[in-house]
Amino acid sequence: MALKLPVYLDYNATTPVDPRVLEVMLPLFSRDFGNASSRTHRYGWKAEAVVKDAREALAEALGGRPDEIFFTSGATESDNMAVLGVARRCRPKGNHIVTSAIEHHAVLDAARQLETEGFDVTYLPPDSHGQTSVESVAEALTERTVLVSVMAANNEIGTINPVKGIGALCRGRDILFHTDAVQAFGKIPLHAEEINADLISITAHKLYGPKGAGALWVKSRARSRLSPLLFGGGQERGVRPGTLNVPGIAGFASAARIAVSFMNEESRRIRELRDWLERQIFSGVPGVRLNGHPVERLPGTLNLTFEAVDGESLLMELRDLAVSAGAACTSAAADASHVLLALGAPPASASASLRFSLGRFTTREEIKFAAHKVVTAVRYLRETGPRNLTRTPLG
Ligand code: PLP
Repeated sequence: MALKLPVYLDYNATTPVDPRVLEVMLPLFSRDFGNASSRTHRYGWKAEAVVKDAREALAEALGGRPDEIFFTSGATESDNMAVLGVARRCRPKGNHIVTSAIEHHAVLDAARQLETEGFDVTYLPPDSHGQTSVESVAEALTERTVLVSVMAANNEIGTINPVKGIGALCRGRDILFHTDAVQAFGKIPLHAEEINADLISITAHKLYGPKGAGALWVKSRARSRLSPLLFGGGQERGVRPGTLNVPGIAGFASAARIAVSFMNEESRRIRELRDWLERQIFSGVPGVRLNGHPVERLPGTLNLTFEAVDGESLLMELRDLAVSAGAACTSAAADASHVLLALGAPPASASASLRFSLGRFTTREEIKFAAHKVVTAVRYLRETGPRNLTRTPLG
């Protein structure tokens, strides 16, 4: 069968909705369109039942209780709710939070906002593989620390953090622990209670659900230490008011059920393809560096830096592949990924970084095609000169 071009290798950015998920969602747009807050008729009851079922499914998938799930518009909102909501409520106790320098901007920019409100924020530098160690968190804690926010797995390099240890440390010091588990949820085992988390951010569109549907899991004991960001109709017990996105919520739950039930086999298959791609590229061209942890890494993520290659030229050559430019290190530090810079990448060298992220619908044929394209393009660009931006791209 002919390949569909460009080959999609950007599953960490977003995923297509799984057809099984879409089937669950479709009737909820038109036939069963009720508002889950409408208590006076069957349309509302039906919607409420759908939301209840979804809450139970997500709680089970995460390892928490249904009343600990708060639906949001996505993980940006969940991260903001956790970071701003806890810090502001806990202000009388202390004005210090700890996070890592390579969090998603949904956490980093919320932390920067807190700085303008008089908080101190420690941005921990990761180690060379992108991990934030329990020891580095321990050293950063002070009497004034009210929250630690460290992601379960990084979206750019896939590195998995020792969240269980970080959670245990925080629990011992009575400090709340939030983890952005957007990239980890449904891909690697993650149990809210086992990792000693207090707040967990998740989103549907990274696991074959729809965009615009997310959740924040808040452990019961942490609930009183969280201020809402929004005010309105009292939905989600006032923690996150606003009419619930019933189709999105149902799709999220369906996607989570599928992801969790097939996680082991799916991860194995994706990891094999990813490892094969990695080996082909490393054996095909010299001057390639792996960004991220060689082992403690999400099964579908491969982030590579190609030395002596211009980033833009490489993307031009690879227009048949939908990949992400990990860092367009062609011109200025402003373009470079904050994650790769934190790992020590030189900001303005003649090098290019690409993130390949594989997923449920990635095939062996697509990976063979991708490996061939990458090896051919890198060899070609090196032969013709790293800064040759004007020639006609390869076919
Ligand atoms: N956190 C991480 C680690 C992500 O990868 C993303 C998505 O790019 C987000 C947060 C934001 O999620 P959403 O797109 O649902 O707002």
